[in-house]
Amino acid sequence: MTAATRLPKLDIDLSDPGAIPEEAIETAVEIMRSGRLFRYGEYGGAANHAALLEQEFAASLGSRYTVGLNSGGSAIYLGLKTAGVEHGDKVLVNAFTLAPVPGAIKHAGAEAVFVEIDSSYHIDLEDLAAKARSSGARVLLLSYMRGHVPDMDRLMAVSRDLDLTVVEDCAHTMGAGWNGTPTGRFGLSGAFSAQTFKHVNSGEGGLLVTDDEDVAAKAILYSGSYMLYAQHVARPDMDVFERHKFDIPNCSMRMTALAASLIRAQLPLLDERAATWNRLYRALAERLNAIVGVRVPERQEKENYVASSLQFSLDGLDSPTIDRFIDICDAAGANIKWFGRLEPRGFTSTYTDWGYARGRQNLPQTRNVMHGLCDMRIPLALTEVHCDQIAEIIEGALAMAQESAA
Ligand SMILES: *Cc1c(COP(=O)(O)O)cnc(C)c1O
Repeated sequence: MTAATRLPKLDIDLSDPGAIPEEAIETAVEIMRSGRLFRYGEYGGAANHAALLEQEFAASLGSRYTVGLNSGGSAIYLGLKTAGVEHGDKVLVNAFTLAPVPGAIKHAGAEAVFVEIDSSYHIDLEDLAAKARSSGARVLLLSYMRGHVPDMDRLMAVSRDLDLTVVEDCAHTMGAGWNGTPTGRFGLSGAFSAQTFKHVNSGEGGLLVTDDEDVAAKAILYSGSYMLYAQHVARPDMDVFERHKFDIPNCSMRMTALAASLIRAQLPLLDERAATWNRLYRALAERLNAIVGVRVPERQEKENYVASSLQFSLDGLDSPTIDRFIDICDAAGANIKWFGRLEPRGFTSTYTDWGYARGRQNLPQTRNVMHGLCDMRIPLALTEVHCDQIAEIIEGALAMAQESAA
């Protein structure tokens, strides 16, 4: 209390997702008036919003197929299933990721083999090679956690050498890429999310993109298309479905017409949103890097990032000090998450918490990075004045947290 009174009070809620655009609300109301919230019509009819979204999303990435799903986690799960992951298989995954990722691996009946990250939060390619060899895993689930895209030239070369199939978790990289190639275009398939805290917001929603006709047909069948898959537009030819239609179970992971309509209305806004996020990110990064003890890693030249959030490292502080720092920021209205906390809170559980995914693997390098790793959202309504306030709060809170340690 006393500490926080010396800091400015941040007058924006960092967790505010922002309103849904008015046109999207109007379309959603029309859909509700029609009652046709389900993506399939019993007797066909006009192309559904879900089918149109799939077509538009595929076109925007330059991919052949897109499958709409009920969540990003479902998209990852089907990415793994359609890559041939079977019960008991091992799946490589960078250890800095979100709980739905090991969740999808577990859902597929597989075991996660966690790979170390480096101090700029990217997957460690040496550890990837070592873990691929020691585990015998054939699939890498590459998670662009918080939108960090590693050196994809090197990553894909290493994956080819190791004969790994890559499935991309693009939940935080819609609109992002590497050297001009969008994420989701490197591996066998890419999974996107439209959950409220991602780059487009339909509450829940997922999209799986691929160029592979069997992956696409299987994903459509798994999603729960009944025998109505002809109503998809960005789909393989009908004979591809003939190969799989009696072998793939209906897992009921469909996207609703309502969710699809909300996403369709937001896709054209993505470039503008990305520009705003990146401008704010650079403003914040510059201010935070000027604070002693705070490190925002450099982004690589070829990374086309969309920074809807910002991560920074507090190097050299112990847990009680960081804990106090977070509380002081919180009291000043700056909601900062910390991946080093021993007891998970909110969204920030870590690999050490995922016992079901054999999470208690020894990853000294990742543990070190996560210890000081802090995370904040960048709402689109943020201003440069807010950036100044946030920097002032972080600098002040760091000083106070360290003072009370002395
Ligand atoms: C949000 C997220 C997911 C899961 O997406 P949902 O749509 O919430 O299931 C997966 N991976 C990462 C890195 C995420 O941030």
